[in-house]
Amino acid sequence: MADCLFCKIIGKEIPAEIVFEDDRAVAFKDIHPIAPLHVLVVPREHIPTTNEVDDSNCALVGHIFEVAAQVARKAGFAESGYRCILNTNRDAGQEVFHVHMHVLGGKRLGPMLSR
Ligand code: 5GP
Ligand code: ZN
Repeated sequence: MADCLFCKIIGKEIPAEIVFEDDRAVAFKDIHPIAPLHVLVVPREHIPTTNEVDDSNCALVGHIFEVAAQVARKAGFAESGYRCILNTNRDAGQEVFHVHMHVLGGKRLGPMLSR
């Protein structure tokens, strides 16, 4: 996708601190971290939101979970814990329309669900 920020990071047109990459996914540090570990894991394929996850790409999206766990393990937070977040569209505050998983860790994260 020509106009997508994360496609540009994947294509190395825009610099980012890449912490992991393979043939299907790239993980890089968030530019405005909210925790000691704040990495975004993205599929190389451009998928705008989780609404576009279907039979054809769900294995790829599953791989994102595998990479997230690997990133957290490598950072030393597999046992202490970490949080994975996927925002979809306006009410969730999605800003970049290329599916990305936030991987947060390294501090005690407060309760996320407010009732
Ligand atoms: P969203 O709100 O869409 O779930 O999250 C987008 C995330 O991308 C935000 O946490 C934001 O800080 C991060 N971000 C925005 N622009 C850039 C950038 O140019 N480089 C990096 N590494 N992260 C970015
Ligand atoms: Zn993209």
